[in-house]
Amino acid sequence: MCGIVGYVGPRPSQDILLAGLARLEYRGYDSAGVAVIDEDGSLGMRKKAGKLSALRDSLADAALPDGSTGIGHTRWATHGGPTDVNAHPHLADEDRLALIHNGIIENFATLRDELAADGVSFRSETDTEVAAALLGREYRGNGGDLQLAFRNVVNRLEGAFTLLAMHQDHPGLVVGARRNSPLVIGLGEGENFLGSDVAAFVEHTRKALAIGQDQIVSITPDAVTVTDFAGTPVEAEPFDVSWDAAAAEKGGWSSFMAKEVAEQPEAVANTIRGRIQGDRVVIPELDGLDDLFTGINRVIITACGTASYAALVGKYAIEQWARVPVDVELAHEFRYRDPVIGDDTLVVSISQSGETMDTLMAVKYARERGARTLSICNTQGATIPRESDAVVYTHAGPEVAVASTKAFSAQITALLLLGLHMGRVRGSITDASVDVAELAALPEKIAKVLETENDHVSQLAGWMADTRSVLFLGRHVGYPIALEGALKLKEISYIHAEGFAAGELKHGPIALIEPGQPVFVLVPSPRHSALVHSKVVSNIQEIRARGARVIVVAEEGDAAVLPFADEVIRIPLAGPMFEPLLAVVPLQVFAMALATAKGLDVDQPRNLAKSVTVE
Ligand code: GLU
Repeated sequence: MCGIVGYVGPRPSQDILLAGLARLEYRGYDSAGVAVIDEDGSLGMRKKAGKLSALRDSLADAALPDGSTGIGHTRWATHGGPTDVNAHPHLADEDRLALIHNGIIENFATLRDELAADGVSFRSETDTEVAAALLGREYRGNGGDLQLAFRNVVNRLEGAFTLLAMHQDHPGLVVGARRNSPLVIGLGEGENFLGSDVAAFVEHTRKALAIGQDQIVSITPDAVTVTDFAGTPVEAEPFDVSWDAAAAEKGGWSSFMAKEVAEQPEAVANTIRGRIQGDRVVIPELDGLDDLFTGINRVIITACGTASYAALVGKYAIEQWARVPVDVELAHEFRYRDPVIGDDTLVVSISQSGETMDTLMAVKYARERGARTLSICNTQGATIPRESDAVVYTHAGPEVAVASTKAFSAQITALLLLGLHMGRVRGSITDASVDVAELAALPEKIAKVLETENDHVSQLAGWMADTRSVLFLGRHVGYPIALEGALKLKEISYIHAEGFAAGELKHGPIALIEPGQPVFVLVPSPRHSALVHSKVVSNIQEIRARGARVIVVAEEGDAAVLPFADEVIRIPLAGPMFEPLLAVVPLQVFAMALATAKGLDVDQPRNLAKSVTVE
């Protein structure tokens, strides 16, 4: 899931590469490395285990020679531990060639044996070094034709890969290829860029080209050529990057996560913008695509992690409004069984990056079986939307912190919009049956939760810094939010946390309750269903009776919870499907404040990376 950046042009490349890596570090931070070719045609390389700062320190101690052709990499280790030697770039052809890789080369063991039999020795334990060595051998065998050698190499690799390579005999040329891993081209004036995503080069150019699956690209300062794996030229698809560089900067916040939590009102507002016409939801990107929604008798929403909890909220909303059965499937489980799908099934995928490998594979699997596909995605030019029949973009802006917050809110928003759009197209809701003004009011209400509850929740987290376990309970759309609250806490504070459907409690989990056990309970509004509300209030009494410390998230004015709550967090009144967007906010703030109280890095939690581009 590494971050990859490449540069050719007139400027010294080292700082451009480091700045690009800083923006891509969310993709992996086990190690970082850069290689540059200087004007005299010599290749310099430095790589260090640990975060990018370790590489920066090393380069500050001893700089590489100035070179205006370069590649850089941040790693999320899959093969071989996070050491200096396993860090990328990997060198070959007597250290005259450098290569970086994102993904997993599945046939690396066979290739490694073949190369070893040929006398090649390896320094690292990575699958990547095999590709570098193979490129070195092909380069020598093809009279120094880097592009031909590279093409021969990619045709022998199996698995998922983005590769970038350069050779000191060819200053001013970087070659790249992708199969099932991301790569985009940035077009500059007299300079060109390659990156895992546009964040790699957004401070230099906002003109970009998307590269398709199984394609190869060569960049020089003045030209970009794209071919397929056979060498036949193909057209790359141009797009403009709508993010500006400032959007991907921390801008005075203590962490990217703090900034992104605070950006949620804007992320939700931007996702709604242009999609309400009068008193109805109309998603312009879905114009002319009514077929996707009529003639289906089933929806499957597929996603992983936080996005799968957004999917669960989507299930409730789509079933209620579009009156079609919805299942939520973890993408990595979906394609490894034999699901019943066909052309009467709409498969909706959710991925912030649009590159999540498990989700991408699920989408491809669904397409192969004739299903209709729609993706919900936050990143232009990404692979999953390109592989889908339709896309609804969430306009959350770049999300850098590994733990998702604003992208999650934007995904729920997109699913609510989709549910209302589908309901209208299918004729199951009338324009008047849902108050879309409620949607438009959400950003302001989220801002209000942040404003009124931030200090209270942070204080609570400070008191609980030594807590070893926290439970979260919810019903209806509060259930996915309970799951998300628990995941946030696990991800960034490393505290054991579990989310449960409140009704499930007495079927097992209540055994976990002992005196002092903190439990967050998401209480639905009594205005929506007095019955569901009263059930949750009963659940609170059950755990309170067993000594739990109860922290309630309830709407303003709900007095029924007061006698049984140790703490009450208030959210504004909202429609039943809209409550998740408000209730999740204090849980995000809680996780962040607790991790901070424990002195942890909230942006880059251990063992994780943001876009999971390996299976
Ligand atoms: N498989 C390569 C390695 O372990 C690249 C992993 C990645 O994409 O992060 O070094």
